[in-house]
Amino acid sequence: MAERMAKGNGVSGIVVIGAGQAGASLVARLRAEGHGGEITLIGAEPVPPYQRPPLSKGYLLGELPVERLFLRPTSFYDEHGIVLKLGTEAVAVDRAARQVALADGERLAYDQLVLTTGSRPRRLPEAVGGGLDGVFTVRTLADVDAMAPTMTAGARALIVGGGYIGLEAAAVARKLGLQVTLVEMAERILARVACAETAAWFRALHRSKGVDLREGVGLERLEGGPGVTGAVLSDGSRIAADLVIVGIGVAPDTRLATAAGLAVENGIAVDAMGRTSEPAVWAAGDCTSFPWQGGRIRLESVQNAIDQAECVARNLAGAAEPYRPQPWFWSDQYDVKLQIAGLNAGYDRVAVRPGARDGTVSHWYYRGGVLVSVDAMNDPRAYMAGKRLIEAGLSPAPSVIGDPAQDLRTLLAAG
Ligand code: ADP
Repeated sequence: MAERMAKGNGVSGIVVIGAGQAGASLVARLRAEGHGGEITLIGAEPVPPYQRPPLSKGYLLGELPVERLFLRPTSFYDEHGIVLKLGTEAVAVDRAARQVALADGERLAYDQLVLTTGSRPRRLPEAVGGGLDGVFTVRTLADVDAMAPTMTAGARALIVGGGYIGLEAAAVARKLGLQVTLVEMAERILARVACAETAAWFRALHRSKGVDLREGVGLERLEGGPGVTGAVLSDGSRIAADLVIVGIGVAPDTRLATAAGLAVENGIAVDAMGRTSEPAVWAAGDCTSFPWQGGRIRLESVQNAIDQAECVARNLAGAAEPYRPQPWFWSDQYDVKLQIAGLNAGYDRVAVRPGARDGTVSHWYYRGGVLVSVDAMNDPRAYMAGKRLIEAGLSPAPSVIGDPAQDLRTLLAAG
């Protein structure tokens, strides 16, 4: 370690709090950039950093063993002199002393600190039965391990929330042979994240797979005790349930940042380089909001966690590189792959482009005539073309996009 310290580029000890995708990407990139100082990665969960997206799909379906979830083998951290402190919770940041306090009383000194604390699922309040046995969120390996034994064929699942989390859970539950009811309190599913056309497409898909999908219906309360047995819905109806999966959104985990007096605005507020309001403290991933188009934005995606974390790592190693997100997302439901390019915030028009095969279509979002985002259902070509057009700042007219005879490649070439 002394040798590493000697090679350090002015930054000696870096402590990273949060061993999810962002934290893991950041420490690996720091070493790749030649950072020679100490690196400590602190994670509250007892397991090394893992991929979350397959948790509620391949892993829950039993198609993927737990080892395959890990982003890197533990030997990687040893070989790169990265100290992993797992099952360890950081409880406070002392900015004046440049120390992190851990739950067991230990204090860790840092020269530079990075918060990659991620986000936490919103939970149903205890008062409406959120604390009953058989009520689950889908975020961690422990969540999915707790849920898995209850997901048996014929069991009755109630899914609360029609965002991507709830819809993906519904798809897996159907695949496992459960009876599934999904309630979405808003007028339609995917209201926060997608257009009415995309919502209609997924509504039809889930109903064709046998999901009892109800919109404009929220959860009034769960019943039972100690285990959940059913629910009363906001329209007064009652349904029986053996388990409940709650997918009602996530909130950035800003607890440490707030307690330490750092600026927080819908996430830990960082500048374009990834620095918080305290120069020795940085942040990356889901937990941050960063400058974007004159305002701030917070992104919940694997891609953002990786890209922003790697950008911060380069900046810690001496670059002064502003973060430029190139957003893309995906969702897997049944045999459908949804790919999303760009950000649809503020869209005012959607063009529908039928795909070449049945069951393939893409929805193109415009804001003030500018192409900003594409949802491609089983249509990777439309996704790729949309991504490239957006990156190139090209906006073919909606009527051109909507014409399936129009070759997307010529649009790119024309630009
Ligand atoms: P996620 O990432 O968990 O899918 P979203 O915010 O995209 O998060 O979706 C969550 C959905 O849950 C929203 O469409 C919201 O309207 C819905 N929702 C929130 N609370 C309730 C509730 N009590 N009953 C039914 N739906 C709810």
